[in-house]
Order: sequence, then structure tokens, then C-alpha cells
Amino acid sequence: LVPVGLLAGVTLAGAILLLARQQMALPAALKTALRRKEFFLEYQPVVDLRSGRWMGLEALVRWRRQTGEVVMPDLFIPLAEENDLIVRITRQVLDAVCRDTGSYLAAHPEFHVGINVSPADFHSRELLAGLQQRMATIQARPANLILEVTERGLLDPRVARETTRALRRHGFAVAIDDFGTGYSSLSYLESLELDYLKIDRSFIEAIGTGAPTSQVVGHIIGMARDLGLRMMAEGVESQAQADFLCRHGVQFAQGWLFGQPMPFAEILRRLAAAEDE
Ligand code: C2E
Ligand code: CA
Ligand code: CA
Ligand code: CA
Repeated sequence: LVPVGLLAGVTLAGAILLLARQQMALPAALKTALRRKEFFLEYQPVVDLRSGRWMGLEALVRWRRQTGEVVMPDLFIPLAEENDLIVRITRQVLDAVCRDTGSYLAAHPEFHVGINVSPADFHSRELLAGLQQRMATIQARPANLILEVTERGLLDPRVARETTRALRRHGFAVAIDDFGTGYSSLSYLESLELDYLKIDRSFIEAIGTGAPTSQVVGHIIGMARDLGLRMMAEGVESQAQADFLCRHGVQFAQGWLFGQPMPFAEILRRLAAAEDE
């Protein structure tokens, strides 16, 4: 009933209103969606800025309602988190990642898929066991996966340290997502043993604009370097941004310049085309 383009632009409050008008409370609608398995994934390429090759993908969830309308994650993930439904969504996301990418990952040990995990997932005992069991089933390696967690998910130092350590001990990689939007101190991050730092799009946007935020990118890069973390920039839309990042030692990037999120079948087509070149 509601065109995708319209939904993509509305606020959270707008989305709630909209669903209310369709006479369904959102948490109830999410429960139905879980039961009907209405979630699916798109994948965005992550490139190595120096070689231009794809180092991997980020998996991004979408919700296709029975009306055919596709709802973007910014509209329903926060509500799923508030209503204790996120862990169930994450289970379906992990299943979908395995279904889509399993055989490709098993054949390509160097390839990565980034998966977004919410604070509740990160703090759940189920995460590690579920990941291990799934990797065994598809015969892929834990190192094929990068768990992306925001600073919100790392708020409790004791839990954060334990979880990252356990995941990494079992071979999974951990990235701090949306970096720069939270309040983590350098010394705290130093104690966490992470693999990647993803620089939030808001800072990439500012590159070359002369705005005060444009100064911050340099500081973030310096900080990541001090911490010995590999860096990924998100939301790279222009060649000038890519050049700046590469010049400053950021190795990986994703964004519309390289490819929008797309179905895995399309990813496979592009990978095959690149191999033929
Ligand atoms: P995120 O993890 O920061 O993901 C990056 C977002 O930036 C994605 O939005 C992506 O489509 C968008 N993006 C990528 N390149 C560009 C660009 O060049 N320009 C612009 N303007 N945008 C770009 P998306 O798919 O709407 O996802 C939004 C957020 O929803 C994600 O932000 C993540 O926090 C959350 N999310 C997505 N999938 C999942 C999931 O499976 N589980 C959980 N817990 N959260 C998810
Ligand atoms: Ca992410
Ligand atoms: Ca991000
Ligand atoms: Ca972001």
C-alpha cells in the first residue's frame, strides 16, 4: 500500500503512525513477520581501496511485508530492540546469511561478511554457540565473519571484554561500528582487542567540506592507527572521499561509489564478471 520510496524517507514516529493507521501495532506486526519469515538480506560490497578488489560484504536486513512494501532497518530495528524481538530477528538474519553466502564462503576463505549485532545479541550467550554451529553446518570458517557492534553494545566493559575475547578466541572478527558517534575513550577501546573500526558515514560526508567535522576524520584515523585496528569507511560516495581515505591509510571502504546494497545473486554475478576480466 505504501511505496518503498515514501517509507525510506519517513521518521520512526512516522512509521509508527503509518502502521497504526494500517491497524497493526508494530511489535505485533514484527512478531507476525518473524513467524512468516518476512526478513531478507541485501549485501553491500566492501572494497580494498588500494587494489579496488572486494574484500567482502556487509549483510543488511530488510522486511518485505505481505503488501509487497519493503521496510528499511532504521525503521524497525530500534523497535525490535525495545520489544525484545531483536534476538529472534538476528537468528533469522544468521540463517539467511548462511543460506545465501554459505557455499561461496566455504570456497573463499579470504572473503568476509559483516553482520550487524545489537547490544542484546552481543550480550547473549547464544551468539557464539549459534555462530559456531552455523559455520560448521556450511563448512565456512569463523574468520569469514565480522561481527559489527556499535559502542552502545560495548557499554558494559566487563561483558564487552569477555564477549569480544570469546568471539576472537574462536576465530570470529569483531568490528566497532558507527565509530565516532559514541563516547568510548581511547584507553577503554585499547582494552577490548577489536579487529576493525568502521568510521561512521557522518564523518566521511564531511571530508573536503571544511566543516569542523572534517577535522575529526583525521583524529579518528590517528586513533585507529594507535590502536592497531584495520579501518573501514562507510558511506563513501565520491572518488575524492575514497582518495582522501586511501591517502590517509584507510584500507577498506563501502558506499554508493562502489555499490549499493543488492541481492546476493547480483553480488555473485558481479564477482563472476570481475573474475572473467
Ligand atoms: P549501518 O550498520 O551503519 O549500515 C550502513 C547503512 O548505510 C546501510 O543502511 C547502508 O545501506 C547505508 N549506506 C551504505 N553506503 C551508503 C552511501 O554511500 N550513502 C548513503 N547515504 N548510505 C549508505 P541500511 O541498510 O538502511 O541499514 C541501516 C542500519 O540498520 C544499519 O546501519 C544497522 O545499524 C541497522 N541494520 C541493518 N541490518 C541489520 C541487521 O541485520 N541487524 C541489526 N541489528 N541491525 C541492522
Ligand atoms: Ca554495520
Ligand atoms: Ca555502520
Ligand atoms: Ca552508520
